[in-house]
Amino acid sequence: MWVQNENCDYKKIRYNETVFNNFKEFSFGHDGLLVIAIEMIKKYPLLVKIINDKFDIIFIDEFQDTNYDVLKVFLDKIAFINTTVGLFGDEMQAIYKDGIGSVKEYTDNRKLVLIEKPANYRCSYEVVDLIKKIRSDKVGIDQEVVLKQNEKESDRHGSVKLYYSIVDKKPVIKSDKNEKEEYAYQTSWGISTRLIGAIIMAHGDNRGLKLPPEIAPIQAIIVPISLSNEDVISKAKELFDVLNKNFRVEIDKRDNYSTGYKFNDWEMKGVPVRIEIGPKDILENQCMAVERDTGDKTAINLDNIEDELRKILSNIQKRMFDSCKKNKENRTSSVDNLDEFAEKINKNQGYIKAMWCGDEKCEAEIRDKTGAKSRCIPFKQEKISDKCVVCGKKAKHLVFWGRQY
Ligand SMILES: [Zn+2]
Repeated sequence: MWVQNENCDYKKIRYNETVFNNFKEFSFGHDGLLVIAIEMIKKYPLLVKIINDKFDIIFIDEFQDTNYDVLKVFLDKIAFINTTVGLFGDEMQAIYKDGIGSVKEYTDNRKLVLIEKPANYRCSYEVVDLIKKIRSDKVGIDQEVVLKQNEKESDRHGSVKLYYSIVDKKPVIKSDKNEKEEYAYQTSWGISTRLIGAIIMAHGDNRGLKLPPEIAPIQAIIVPISLSNEDVISKAKELFDVLNKNFRVEIDKRDNYSTGYKFNDWEMKGVPVRIEIGPKDILENQCMAVERDTGDKTAINLDNIEDELRKILSNIQKRMFDSCKKNKENRTSSVDNLDEFAEKINKNQGYIKAMWCGDEKCEAEIRDKTGAKSRCIPFKQEKISDKCVVCGKKAKHLVFWGRQY
């Protein structure tokens, strides 16, 4: 089949976030992309080499639900050269009936090594047994597993399997800074709703959300003034096409809301910049940019719009960051005794900087008397005193303390 579309760039493949492939606009759904990726890896050995050079370790989580063809490509083409491929998951918990199921063929051939942990956090009985063993309080409360309706004991089990392929080379990363090889390490940053909550609380104001440009899903919203005017619409569309290449931008074409309503709506949603374009602006070859954080309104020549928007966004980003940092500094107090600690945390509701001896008992006393817990032991240590804020013994660390809200 041969489909030709003059407006389409066939050198680029796009993901269309659906399950369908669209040959007209040359975009692919999830499964289509997988097929293409697999075929490319099979066909171009250079791609395999790039992957091998770039990644020492590749882990596939929830492997039991990973497409078998994908898994096979990783195991047959990529593993064992310089890259260790690991599979993590449990066949018992497969969501899809036609999931990959077993990798027995690979373990039988000793291509994969298996580590099996017979229990995980879903094993309620084992978890409760363990809690009983480690609880030191003797209040006489016995813990037991409570099953939901229609649930059986056998439903409360789980296990974890980790398979890995072996390569001769130890996994290392090359550090650009030190120009020497170091063991790989990783961190896990649980990006969760908490973080979103923190952004809302740190930046929001009485008009609603205020999002830093670098993370805002929409960085600029174009609001055409006078939707009935065709010149305005086509100019707004032109502006969108220019900006859409480098910014996350949208046009508000809703015709069932007033312009005033739209302004408030986008302010409330925290979009960093609103771009207004109306019949008068078109005559002047300009548009108006309104900044969410300050409300400042600037006329911008349409010929410079990309550069100007970039400047505005970067200024907003810096202003918001600086103002947050200043707020944190204003709400951080240094203390050297527990009474002062309690007083300042009540008054300022921010962080307390205080020295700590390292003894958990002192940490517990702080929690009991002030409600604050240790939040961070900064790498960059200052010495605000020699003594622990609680016991007065020699202090080991400067710690930031705070209450959890
Ligand atoms: Zn102490």
